Amino acid sequence: MVRPTDPLVLATRNPHKVREMSRLLASCGIAVDPLPEGVQLPPEDGATFADNAMVKAQVAAAATGRIAIADDSGIEAAALRGRPGVRSARYAGDGASDEQNLQKLICEAPAGTGLRYVCALAYVDPQAGLEHIVFGECRGRRADAPRGFRGFGYDPVFVPDGEAQNRTMAELTDAEKDAISHRGNAVRALLRWLRR
Ligand code: IMP
Repeated sequence: MVRPTDPLVLATRNPHKVREMSRLLASCGIAVDPLPEGVQLPPEDGATFADNAMVKAQVAAAATGRIAIADDSGIEAAALRGRPGVRSARYAGDGASDEQNLQKLICEAPAGTGLRYVCALAYVDPQAGLEHIVFGECRGRRADAPRGFRGFGYDPVFVPDGEAQNRTMAELTDAEKDAISHRGNAVRALLRWLRR
């Protein structure tokens, strides 16, 4: 059984992910430290979410000598046969903002069509020579129009399956998003593995 006692290094520079991951792990008694300044993360140009997550966790673990975790996530649109997928952060072009990516999804994926959030979460323990990857998903559909100011990225147009009031992810409370999100599901899968 793996039982991390020290804070895990969280290999991301994305403040939204830091907030969500810290919140999710804190609720299970696991603390995270930010990636130290000066550690350069590699470009996210892998073919899969798992490739990108693993290389980020490996770089952070090698640089710090500590257990590191990293997530790579994105959205898949059924109407676009799974795009933007692993390219979600660059959907509207290199350096695109969340707002530009959101507008492009609104243009290309019709309202009501299926969406899926995916999260790959990599865990690297450099002392034990241990690497593991878990996944989480969250299924939903495209809202007819963007709504809500919480969350980030594509949340204003993502209506999760089972949401009876037709609220978007950006209209849910933090606790409601965490209970169903791809990132929440990946963190819960990691905890099951750590406690195995
Ligand atoms: P990356 O994991 O840094 O490559 O970025 C993931 C991309 O998917 C970004 O464009 C995010 O805005 C988007 N994304 C990932 N998770 C979420 C989420 O929980 N809500 C909204 N957008 C997300």
